[in-house]
Amino acid sequence: MRILVLGAGFGGLELATRLSAEYGDQLDLVLIDQGEGFVFGFSKLDVMFGRALPSTVVHPYCDLVKPGVRFIQGTIHSIDPTAKRVVTDAGVFEADIMVVALGADLHPAATPGLVEAGHEFYTVSSAFALRDVLSNFGGGQVVVGVTSTPFKCPPAPSETALLMDDYLSRRGLRDGSEITLVMPFGVPIPPSPAASEALLAAFAERGIHWHPGRLVQALDPDRSLALLSDGTAMPFDLFLGVPVHRVPAVVEESGLAVDGWVPVDPLTLETAFPGVYAVGDVTSVGTPKAGVFAEGQASVVAEHIGAILGGDGEPPLYDGRGVCYLAFGADLVARVEVAFMAGRAPDGVFEGPSRALSGEKGEFGTSRIRRWFDRTWSAEEHPVP
Ligand SMILES: Cc1cc2nc3c(=O)[nH]c(=O)nc-3n(C[C@H](O)[C@H](O)[C@H](O)COP(=O)(O)OP(=O)(O)OC[C@H]3O[C@@H](n4cnc5c(N)ncnc54)[C@H](O)[C@@H]3O)c2cc1C
Repeated sequence: MRILVLGAGFGGLELATRLSAEYGDQLDLVLIDQGEGFVFGFSKLDVMFGRALPSTVVHPYCDLVKPGVRFIQGTIHSIDPTAKRVVTDAGVFEADIMVVALGADLHPAATPGLVEAGHEFYTVSSAFALRDVLSNFGGGQVVVGVTSTPFKCPPAPSETALLMDDYLSRRGLRDGSEITLVMPFGVPIPPSPAASEALLAAFAERGIHWHPGRLVQALDPDRSLALLSDGTAMPFDLFLGVPVHRVPAVVEESGLAVDGWVPVDPLTLETAFPGVYAVGDVTSVGTPKAGVFAEGQASVVAEHIGAILGGDGEPPLYDGRGVCYLAFGADLVARVEVAFMAGRAPDGVFEGPSRALSGEKGEFGTSRIRRWFDRTWSAEEHPVP
C-alpha cells in the first residue's frame, strides 16, 4: 500500500510520524514539501520580536529520517485525485492512499498597498525580515490588522499587539507610541468568551486600542493610511498585517476545492474522492486554521489508514478538539481548550495567563520537534514570550 502525503507542515509531519512509529520499515510513505524546513507559526513572532534567531527555529527536512518514510523536496505542480497521482519538479508520484496537507497560501499582494507601505507577519520571509524593521523602528502609530477571513491562528493578531506593547516598553518607546488592533470579529476569540474577556482586559490595561468587526481593505501608501471596511481611515507609521489566505493554486486546479477550501467528512477527513484525505488549513472542516487542529486531524487519518493496512479495532472519529496557547507578553501564557463539533456551539475552557503555562507552551514545541525530527530543541533556542 503506497501512501502519498502532500505537505510536511503540522499535519503532514504528524501523519508521517504516527504511521512510521506504528509500521516502521513495512511502511511505504512518500512525504513531499517544497520547503527547506518546518517553522512553527509562533516562531515567526519569536524571531520578529527578537527573542529567537532564524537559524534556531527552522527545522530542516534533511533531519527527517524515519523508517518507511521517504522525504522528497519538490514543488507539486498538479494533483490528480482520481488517479492519486502528483507531478512535481522532483518527479511523478502515485499512490493507493493520498493525504493533502498543503495548508493555506498567503497573498500579501491581494491587499492594495500592503506590499508597498506595510508588512505582513504570516510568511516566514516577511516575519524574519520584520526583526530588523522593528529594531529600526523609533516608535509611533502601530496598526495590527487583518485583511480577510478565514485566517490562520485567530489569536495571533491579539498576541502580536500584546507582544508589541512588551517590545516597545522594553525599548523605552512605548510612551511615544500607540498600538491599534483591527479585527473582523466582535471579540478577540469568539469560541472562548473567557479568553476574549482576558484579552480585552489586557488591551485596556496596556492601552491597546481595540477596533472589532472590521477588516483592513487597503493601505494608502501616499498618506500612510489603513483603509477599513467600515469606510474609515486610520493613520499608521508601522502597519503589521495578516494577509489574504487562499487554498494553494495546485489544490484549486485539482478539483478538490469547493468554495475556496477542500470539503471533507468531518468525522473521517476523507474527501469526495475515495482514498484521498485532507487535513489542516487546506480544508473547510469547521475548525480554526491552526496547527493543533491539523495535528489532531492527522492522528485520526493515521488511524484510518492503519485500519486499511489491517490494524485492529475501529478507528476513532475526529472530535474537533484542540489546545491553543496565547502569548500575553510579560512572560505570561494562557491556554484555551476548545472543541468544534458539527451542529454544536464550540465550548472553550480558558486557563491563565500564568508563567507555568509559558513552560507548558515551550514543551508543546519541544515535544513536537523531538517526535517529528528526533532531536532536542532547547529552551535557549526558543524562549517562550
Ligand atoms: C504568526 C502565526 C502564529 C501561529 N501560532 C500558532 C500556534 O500557537 N498554535 C497553532 O496550533 N497554530 C499556530 N499557527 C497556525 C499554524 O502555523 C498553521 O495552522 C499550521 O501550520 C497548519 O498546518 P497544515 O499542516 O495544515 O499546513 P502547513 O503547516 O502550512 O503546511 C503546509 C505545507 O505544504 C507545503 N506546500 C504548499 N504548497 C506546496 C506545493 N505546491 N508543493 C509542495 N509543498 C507545498 C508548504 O511548504 C508547507 O510546508 C500560527 C500561524 C501564524 C502565521
